[in-house]
Amino acid sequence: MSSLTINIAKGAGFCMGVRRAIEIAKKAGKQYGKVAMLGDIVHNEGVVRELEKDGIVVYDDLSQIPPEMPVILRSHGTRADLRQRAHSMGLTIIDATCPLVKEIHAAAKELESEGRKVIIIGDHGHDEVEAIAGEVTDPLIIADEAEADTISKIRQAGVVIQSTQFRENVDAILKKLIWKINDLRIINTICKPTRDRQAQIRELASENDVMLIVGSFTSANTKRLTRIAQSINSRSYQIRGPVDIQPDWFKGAKSVGISAGASAPDKIVREVADKIGALAI
Ligand code: SF4
Repeated sequence: MSSLTINIAKGAGFCMGVRRAIEIAKKAGKQYGKVAMLGDIVHNEGVVRELEKDGIVVYDDLSQIPPEMPVILRSHGTRADLRQRAHSMGLTIIDATCPLVKEIHAAAKELESEGRKVIIIGDHGHDEVEAIAGEVTDPLIIADEAEADTISKIRQAGVVIQSTQFRENVDAILKKLIWKINDLRIINTICKPTRDRQAQIRELASENDVMLIVGSFTSANTKRLTRIAQSINSRSYQIRGPVDIQPDWFKGAKSVGISAGASAPDKIVREVADKIGALAI
């Protein structure tokens, strides 16, 4: 039996937006038998396979979706041109966009209506960022400090931020931008679930001997959370689930903190805690 104290982050597991989208998708699966989704709902292979059982079929392109199949818009938003195309194809649209993502769209439009150049702090090519970009004309996407260095001077600009961005990255970019833009308005659109998750990981990583972050290696967000934890506690590890746990990690440890990326199911977090609890340390 393990003598380790296990502390699970309160916000571990799916964020509100993903949880809500999965519920909507499952309900739609029951109602329609089969429903289409453009791309994966979360960057987690296990969740995607689970949803397949509920009748959710993932397509890479709108043109592949059969006309009789309703289409679900995912939690992190869908580009305006794709939404319009789905409408003009006559598809039934089920909107599972997170309300907090919609707030970012509204914020970007508000900044544009003030005559500002819209700047999005976020990852190039990320679906959420692409969808925000599609709401305004010719926005500037800045992923990191090095990119902020390369932009020319702007008279009037406004910033919105991808919901899952990290404080350190945003701080570093904004420090550069204030020297390049005369009139700068910033709307902090990092969502509350993300802020809480990051704060909790910092807390748990400093208070526990070992720190585990549960999540898929394809999730950029989970990798970043792991880096935050590692910067505070060198005994921090990213795992996909119980199978990745190595008993060696816990030698001499009295406590372990567990958190997870927004795309990790609560069930896996519990399974990880159970496996650690059963380790003979
Ligand atoms: S990370 Fe935040 S904004 Fe994005 S889907 Fe989750 S709750 Fe919504």
